[in-house]
Amino acid sequence: MVDSRNWFAEIPDTRRRHFRASQREGVTIAVNGSNLINFASNDYLGLSTHPAVCMAAQGACTSAVGSGASRLVSGDDPMLHRLEARLAAWKGYEACLIIGSGMLANLGLLQALADRHTHIFADRLNHASLVDGARLSGAQMHRFAHLDYEQLEKQMRKYAAEKRIIVSDGVFSMDGDCADVGALLALADAHDTLLVVDDAHGIGTVGDDGRGLTAIHHIAGHDRVIEVGTFGKAFGSYGAFILGTDELIEGLRQRQRSMIYSTALPVAMIAAAETALLLIQRGEQLAQLHANLARFKAGVEGMDFMPSNTAIQPLIVGSDARALALSDALAENGFFVAAIRPPTVPEGTARLRFTLNAAHSTEQIDRLTECLKGLL
Ligand SMILES: *Cc1c(COP(=O)(O)O)cnc(C)c1O
Repeated sequence: MVDSRNWFAEIPDTRRRHFRASQREGVTIAVNGSNLINFASNDYLGLSTHPAVCMAAQGACTSAVGSGASRLVSGDDPMLHRLEARLAAWKGYEACLIIGSGMLANLGLLQALADRHTHIFADRLNHASLVDGARLSGAQMHRFAHLDYEQLEKQMRKYAAEKRIIVSDGVFSMDGDCADVGALLALADAHDTLLVVDDAHGIGTVGDDGRGLTAIHHIAGHDRVIEVGTFGKAFGSYGAFILGTDELIEGLRQRQRSMIYSTALPVAMIAAAETALLLIQRGEQLAQLHANLARFKAGVEGMDFMPSNTAIQPLIVGSDARALALSDALAENGFFVAAIRPPTVPEGTARLRFTLNAAHSTEQIDRLTECLKGLL
């Protein structure tokens, strides 16, 4: 007999994901009654708890909290347009479209760009939202091994079609390594395709000015390039944005279902993101994040960390049980670090994913790396 109590009975206990209620204050997180230093957040610049960002959000919602409707109907607040213009100028694109979240951005973007005649070429480690967006579009999907651009080129030679799109994360969320977006654009040029780069983790954290991978590789604003970013990570808020040419963004305004059929972002989030952008441009937190990253990397030298120069620092430990045990042991020592297991990452690559934050103190980082030395 089928009912709602046994519908999901096949999920094995060992693979259950655990949701733990937790309260954050700065880089401290209270979990199960203990206060831990949080090394498991994507709030890389500490802006989600920054007083100026919090005040901007509060100030924006004194008279209204919800936006009341889709942007298409009556939810299109002028603040959205102002921030879109600022983001486009900062990132070096003609136009920008703000959307509910990174998940919604990618679902809607690929659905709008592609149909069953389109071929999508995707890095195997792309974020789930890009995988699902491609599925939703009905496009023919070709996945290449992580960062294997020779395989990508072979696939592009093999599958000719009028409309083709290369899709890649910028900074990869679970590995912390980076796509060579310059090489991807060269391939896109050679094979006449679009290139979608989702730099959710790179924007605000990568490069001396925080403008992310497409700025470092000087490909931002190119006619073939479409870039996705989120406010949920370095910006410390919620929401997302898509960058591209004027015509592309206008096309998305017409076609992007995840924007048209969803309530517009609350202005509090927009105000928070706008203040976060000013802080990112000022650069104080970014410089601190880079200093913290250098300190961490020096402290874990010789340990088996994955090669990553970003704020995402994963340590592969193999079995799920070992990842959980190490995460528990770190918690006993006062540190909150996420154990990431399959199916989020490939089988046999369970890992501890450390993320650094501008608000971590040197002393907190040193204590963590000392503790790790003892545990390993
Ligand atoms: C987090 C993330 C998203 C989703 O963004 P949200 O704003 O959290 O929905 C999309 N793409 C990548 C690469 C991400 O890391």
